[in-house]
Amino acid sequence: TETLAGKVAIVTGGSRGIGEGIARRLAAAGATVAITYNSSAEQAESVAKSIGEAGGTAVAVRVDAADRAGVRAGIGEIAERFGRLDILVNNAGVTVVGPIDSIGDAEYDRSLAINLTAVFVASQEALRYLVDGGRIITIGSINADRIHFGGGSVYALTKAGVAGLTRALAREVSDRGITVNTVQPGPVDTDMNPADGPFAEITRPHIAVGRYGTAAEVGSLVTYLAGPDAAYVTGATINVDGGFAA
Ligand code: NDP
Repeated sequence: TETLAGKVAIVTGGSRGIGEGIARRLAAAGATVAITYNSSAEQAESVAKSIGEAGGTAVAVRVDAADRAGVRAGIGEIAERFGRLDILVNNAGVTVVGPIDSIGDAEYDRSLAINLTAVFVASQEALRYLVDGGRIITIGSINADRIHFGGGSVYALTKAGVAGLTRALAREVSDRGITVNTVQPGPVDTDMNPADGPFAEITRPHIAVGRYGTAAEVGSLVTYLAGPDAAYVTGATINVDGGFAA
């Protein structure tokens, strides 16, 4: 059923992976979806086109999450283009993995810019446009709560950061009926974390259900949170991790 008919959603980093899965699910529920990307223009256009062929509406817009002013401008342009904004999904993210003494300042700054500052700035800007009853959903990571390998310091700190931001913002915007939540995926098969890579070998034994998740399985939870049935869910951190943290 089209629980999101008439609604406009932004999904950052929707050209591939989890963001693509989220965009497809939101569009299938009736939302008009703007997906952002940085480098994968062709892939982003092809996701938008394929959503269109499936009967939905989607556009692809280049917004570099590492560029604070660009994020601000991009959110505003999308909201103005469609004349409204109902749902912001902060999904774009990067991973830096390595022992703490190997993490350079530039890598650190870039991770924080994309995984944390862009989420803050996009939320700040989106709140200027979001309708009453709007939604902010941020893709954190189960690695904020449980990390099964050495070398995830920067990644984990950014993902713990967005969960804290979510709780604080939920308090600030509840009077507008806007909910703010963090979705924490466990291992999901994407370019970032391929189900057949060497990292998967050390990861799979920790997953209670014994397999990697799919982008669609994350998209399904996000679509629920975006919909009217989830009005009483806010400030929450919800895992979709196959029992990784169990
Ligand atoms: P992918 O690397 O497969 O895809 C990343 C997406 O983010 C792409 O669409 C990419 O766009 C976009 N992106 C990256 N950098 C930028 C940027 N500077 N500006 C705009 N967009 C950008 O990652 P996943 O799909 O696996 O991850 C998506 C989110 O889920 C991330 O926040 C990640 O931390 C989180 N997550 C992933 C898990 C996993 O196991 N896969 C587990 C837990 C959390 P482009 O194609 O243009 O580069």
